[in-house]
Amino acid sequence: MKNGHETIAVVAGGAGFIGSHLVDALLAEGMRVVCIDNFRTGRIENLRHLEREPAFDLIDADIIDAPPAKLMRSARKPGFVFNLACAASPPHYQADPEHTLLTSVMGTHHLLQLAEATGARFVQASTSEIYGDPEIHPQRENYWGHVNPTGPRACYDEGKRAAEALVFDFLRARRGDARVARIFNTYGPRMRADDGRVVSNVITQALAGDDITIYGSGEQTRSFCYVDDLVRGLIALSRHDNSYRGAINLGNPKEIKVLELAGRVVEMTGAQSTIAFRPLPVDDPRRRRPDITLAQRVLKWRPTVPLAVGLARTIAYFAAEAEALAHLPTGRGIRQARQIESRAAARPGG
Ligand code: UDP
Repeated sequence: MKNGHETIAVVAGGAGFIGSHLVDALLAEGMRVVCIDNFRTGRIENLRHLEREPAFDLIDADIIDAPPAKLMRSARKPGFVFNLACAASPPHYQADPEHTLLTSVMGTHHLLQLAEATGARFVQASTSEIYGDPEIHPQRENYWGHVNPTGPRACYDEGKRAAEALVFDFLRARRGDARVARIFNTYGPRMRADDGRVVSNVITQALAGDDITIYGSGEQTRSFCYVDDLVRGLIALSRHDNSYRGAINLGNPKEIKVLELAGRVVEMTGAQSTIAFRPLPVDDPRRRRPDITLAQRVLKWRPTVPLAVGLARTIAYFAAEAEALAHLPTGRGIRQARQIESRAAARPGG
């Protein structure tokens, strides 16, 4: 594998939450990075600090449409193609389910074509959602999952499952090298205020002094991984020379009830908010926790950032965002940020 600035990494979805942190980490490793994003859920603000970065390029394109022509033609071949391009929060991916499913299927196919044509190593961001509402706990990679193929989450879950199938057929046919990460709930700075997921919702609600929305009883669990840990895992996955080629879970095995998470955020922010219980979404998984034995063995990776530390950084990020957007006291700033974000989301293609 080449090192330094000769190595080019393509990051599809590089303007997104995890993608933009990956872009930063790859640049810090001395690579050239080409980001592809359609800016549906990715945000230019996540890349603003790279405006004058000579080792960074941006292609505004949708991987659904075709393999990225400029990269297919380029004499400079990428060493890696990372696919992080897909809306990942339930409200966002359900807003245009057809686009979500095709992003995973057509988009992954197009990026595999790019990897095949250039000899790049392909890295797929898969998801714990491929386990659905799991009957096995914690989830190991050899569990085939419990997914409703006709429900509202299917566009994401089944799209990601089909994408894994494409990648493993690509490997079986010896068309190139590929790695698959199954990413569990991840949080941190650069999540959207309107992302709709529990961490961003609870933090923005607490900072605004609004009611904290808990879906169902709040007894359901998730295991939250701080984004820096996750990105370190993705890079380790892209680099390892172990012969193992199956999918690998990346996540933090520390499991917590959603209600308890909300309580911790309320405590940390000193919010006066009260809990408002809302209906549990259809097919919402009851429990989720990664078994990371494989990641520890193959990648020598495990997460190190405790929830309290990661939450503090994320709270600080959302508070600063609100201030910067509005130059207003925190509560009003957050409300204004939400309005700005929802206006952006309402724009065609937004
Ligand atoms: N959730 C909640 N309040 C919110 C947003 C989400 O109680 O404002 C719940 C949601 O129903 C789920 C858990 O928190 O049980 C995690 O949801 P999220 O959307 O963050 O991730 P995913 O369901 O994809 O794991």
